[in-house]
Amino acid sequence: MTRSGPNSFQQLEKLGEGTYATVFKGRNTQTGELVALKEIALDTEEGTPSTAIREISLMKELHHENILRLHDVIHAESKLMLVFEYMDKDLKRYMDTHGELSAGVIKSFVYQLLQGVSYCHDNRILHRDLKPQNLLVNAQGQLKLGDFGLARAIGIPVNTFSNEVVTLWYRAPDVLLGSRSYSTSIDMWSIGCIAAELWRGRSLFPGSNNEDQLKRIFKVMGTPSERSWPGVSKLPEYRADFPVYVQQELRALVPRVDPLGLDLVGRMLRVIPERRITAKEALRHAWFEDLGV
Ligand code: AMP
Repeated sequence: MTRSGPNSFQQLEKLGEGTYATVFKGRNTQTGELVALKEIALDTEEGTPSTAIREISLMKELHHENILRLHDVIHAESKLMLVFEYMDKDLKRYMDTHGELSAGVIKSFVYQLLQGVSYCHDNRILHRDLKPQNLLVNAQGQLKLGDFGLARAIGIPVNTFSNEVVTLWYRAPDVLLGSRSYSTSIDMWSIGCIAAELWRGRSLFPGSNNEDQLKRIFKVMGTPSERSWPGVSKLPEYRADFPVYVQQELRALVPRVDPLGLDLVGRMLRVIPERRITAKEALRHAWFEDLGV
């Protein structure tokens, strides 16, 4: 596909299939610059999704070295084309190709992830769908967050484009329990899961459905009760007959991590959302003292 006019991009090979979209490598035919073209099919019955377009356009204003730059939003026929800066690979592929990561690399990635998230939270934008597949990495060791705000603009999908089931692995327990009072703490849970996965080399809570996901979390963190979490029994998906588990040592699941690193991961993985550390607090955590920033 080649378009004419100032926004002309040559579509190259397919890079991947995302939660909302198909992603292609592209080249700006005028500057030669490589880009990632994200194509989102729109629900034509809904008419012009002006809210989605307005929200996505706001993402163009997010300028931070740890946020993937959105250069352009093109609305054509029944689809939206988002033009992003091009990156080498996503964090999932990076983990698959690099094997066991060093403590230094993990610390740098978690720090950059927190910087990007902190910037967005300061701008009152939640990600809501953080996972290794939408964190992008380049050859310089930079990590950038993709799709910021997209979950809000397009809605949390039940199924992907290609009928693949959307992963629940990084979803916070309050969201799984049906809480609708989303706050920045839901992104912090996802970062805790991602940080643990960087140490483990495999995901922390790989659930197969909502119930299984909650069960896996409770098995490690303990099943919440009205006593430990006042109000939990009022959440829509709460069930009085959840199996009762007592809290386990997180260390058993993340054996490679040093004590300070484990402390930080533990503060991100608090079942009660109000108790989770914020991105700003996390950036000041003692674990980062030797990062040299
Ligand atoms: P996403 O919808 O962001 O999950 O994208 C699906 C896949 O496309 C990702 O897992 C990446 O492999 C690839 N991808 C997305 N954005 C980019 C980008 N800016 N540069 C290179 N590859 C990308």
